[in-house]
Amino acid sequence: MPKEKKEIYSNSCITPIYQNAVYFFESTEQVIKYHQDEACLGRYGRYDNPNWLEFESKMAALDNYDDALLFSSGMNAIITTVCSFIEQKDRLIYTGKCYRNIRKFFDNVLPKWGVETIPIDPMRIDEFHEQIENECQKKAKIFFVEMPSNPHLYLVDLARLKSQIGTETLLIVDSTLSTPYNFQPQRFGADLTIHSCSKYIGGHGDLLAGTVAGSRELIEKVRNYRNIMGGIADPHCAFLLNRSLDSLEIRMRHFNEAGMKIAKYLQDQPRVKKVFYNGLESHPHSFLAKKYLMGYGGVVTFELDADLEVTSEFVEALQVPFMGSNFGSSHAMVEQCSVFTYYNLSPTEKQEIGINNSLVRLSIGYEESDLLIEDLDQALKTIDVSG
Ligand SMILES: *Cc1c(COP(=O)(O)O)cnc(C)c1O
Repeated sequence: MPKEKKEIYSNSCITPIYQNAVYFFESTEQVIKYHQDEACLGRYGRYDNPNWLEFESKMAALDNYDDALLFSSGMNAIITTVCSFIEQKDRLIYTGKCYRNIRKFFDNVLPKWGVETIPIDPMRIDEFHEQIENECQKKAKIFFVEMPSNPHLYLVDLARLKSQIGTETLLIVDSTLSTPYNFQPQRFGADLTIHSCSKYIGGHGDLLAGTVAGSRELIEKVRNYRNIMGGIADPHCAFLLNRSLDSLEIRMRHFNEAGMKIAKYLQDQPRVKKVFYNGLESHPHSFLAKKYLMGYGGVVTFELDADLEVTSEFVEALQVPFMGSNFGSSHAMVEQCSVFTYYNLSPTEKQEIGINNSLVRLSIGYEESDLLIEDLDQALKTIDVSG
């Protein structure tokens, strides 16, 4: 076989899937050019893929940075990014009410490597900033923020936080729950922005991926680490993500509208005790939502006026959403938090992060919001009968 490659049908509107792990060079000169970043060529599938590059440049633009990287999952994006910068004896501060596995990584894994990790509760804003003031007497390497937080959608005053921690501490923001359509942490001082693409960005419940975006300098450091750690997404996944970005805006507009409508509906129901939705005045951080968010998304969390069993009855009576714990995909999903995602936590731990037995997280899908409202209505009537 001759070692040459012809461009065929290179006028496809959509970039084909580069399902390859290996690349060849035409000359030593070309190899040198590759090493010096003078030729956009691939070397090996753990370092290079055209479908990644397309997605990464789109994500960088959406997140308002120079560059971005794609990973095999959101967790991998977070862990590879943090490990690119953290060293033994460093301190890492984070918003304690965050995604369970991020908390596990910070609480259980990093301390084994001699990193001190400090959770700060973002719920009460004044105490939060006071605590930052105290903790920042000693320098921290990283401040990690999940915003909005899962499942209560707590926010932080990011610009104020940035001015408190100064420029020497890296500010990393996981804004999976807002997407760049609703929130751009870069505008308020975040050095790196992370998303789990398994949620809104993928948007169809059919893939796992994660991304980090930042300045060229920071992203190069993370890229070197990704080259070693190997937490890369496969080419087909990158292809699907490129498809998904085409509809991100339309999908987010739907989620923002439907989310607001459903949150308002729930707020008016006598059996609903509390609704956590950033667009409602009753959310403890609605004043921050106005400053930071351009829309409030498709996750609505609420507490029923009911005990554990009656809340389960309510969730089971729902006909439209699947029982499960993804969000941002085509299907609506619902979970009773204390028996689903947080089942293995002790009562004290649940209390600490605000997971009580009547807490329900509803993730809207692409259905008409009225369909979900009718369904919520009939399920609420069911529990009214049972008491
Ligand atoms: C789901 C999620 C993650 C983890 O992402 P995976 O793609 O599932 O690994 C991280 N942060 C937040 C806020 C999430 O919701």
